Amino acid sequence: MKACIVSIGNELLSGQTVDTNAAWLSGKLFELGIATTGSWVVPDEQPRILAAIRQASQEGDLILVTGGLGPTDDDLSRQAVAVYWGVPLEFQPELLVQISDFFEKRGKKMASNNRSQAYIPAGSAVLDNPVGTAPGFWACKDNIFLAAMPGVPAEMKRMFTDQVIPRITRLTEGPTVVSGKLRCFGAGESDIAQKLGDLMKRGRNPLINCTCGSGEILLHIIAAAEDKKTAQAMIQKDKALLRECLGGWAYGEDDQTLAAVVGRLLKTRHKTIALAESCTGGLLSQMLTDVPGASDYVRAGWVTYSNEAKTSQLGVPEAVITDFGAVSEPVARIMAQQAAQKCDADVAVAITGIAGPSGGTDEKPVGLVYIAVAIDGDCEVKEYRFPPANRHWIRLRSALTALNLVRLRLAV
Ligand code: ATP
Repeated sequence: MKACIVSIGNELLSGQTVDTNAAWLSGKLFELGIATTGSWVVPDEQPRILAAIRQASQEGDLILVTGGLGPTDDDLSRQAVAVYWGVPLEFQPELLVQISDFFEKRGKKMASNNRSQAYIPAGSAVLDNPVGTAPGFWACKDNIFLAAMPGVPAEMKRMFTDQVIPRITRLTEGPTVVSGKLRCFGAGESDIAQKLGDLMKRGRNPLINCTCGSGEILLHIIAAAEDKKTAQAMIQKDKALLRECLGGWAYGEDDQTLAAVVGRLLKTRHKTIALAESCTGGLLSQMLTDVPGASDYVRAGWVTYSNEAKTSQLGVPEAVITDFGAVSEPVARIMAQQAAQKCDADVAVAITGIAGPSGGTDEKPVGLVYIAVAIDGDCEVKEYRFPPANRHWIRLRSALTALNLVRLRLAV
């Protein structure tokens, strides 16, 4: 099966909104073993939407449309798909009940234009939208399947996961390609390739591909087999094999984040954590608290950006800052120790560094970062000299490296 994606919305063409729906969908399709062969971004204009769908139908046998299902006059996906299928729009009374219930439950009155959302192309199946008002729909014409979903990413993701994937899975039973991911941190692409040797050979089944970003290496394991179950078993077997080869470099699988893995380790070891950040400005705290259930182990965090705050909030002596500089091993160490002490946490992480683009010197260049990890009073500080790529990259790399240090120390 080959898929095409059509993303609809003027805002996607004016630079206001990045088309994250297409990126997310092609990632999910890839995991299902379905290649995306084309992606179109079109404005809220019916002829353009129709033209894109027609082009997509030349190139794929599954078309995923997102956006244009709202209640306003510029929401034209329903009409365009109806024309493509050569059917009228049909009023679905039960959809109107669902939409008005959606408003009622939130203490609001449904506007009259929401009634338009109860019309879908005749003969299509409704894709319910439990988190919004725009229902989607699904049907097949000339062996080409089409799912129309809302543009709002959270609504689209829920609809695709709960209602479109099961339909696609039924269609792709039989010989199939399935993929999984092994996530690594702390090694370069070439280190990993060297360790894996023949396992990464072209033509091997499963095929192992490598992509990287911000210090993280993703190994994509792509298995072709007679059926999905066999392919999935091949992937599981390879994951175990790769983990054995890569040791501590492998930290997780599929969609697991480093923060989620660290969170799980903290939870299973009954440890709490405190965070003291300077150059990362709270990024590490955000990553950890992005994980549902983080309140079980995250105690507190400080963003002590200025020298004054390092002293007043975390008790770093002025003399230490004067003697060694704010970006130094002793400052990172005291920040971590003080953060742990102040909120009685078992683990504390401190980050201080120069994210640039200015502020670097020969002795302390942009990219110099100290990360301290204290666990049960035992504090280790590491110095990093990250390439001075850009501010965002240095901050991201610092926060991820800090998480990885915690992971490695908790894992022993
Ligand atoms: P719906 O069908 O749910 O009404 P719509 O296209 O009418 O969708 P819009 O009002 O255009 O919805 O967009 C709703 C929100 O979803 C906006 O914040 C918009 O930027 C976002 N959005 C729409 N399409 C995409 C996309 N392809 N990628 C990322 N965000 C998107």
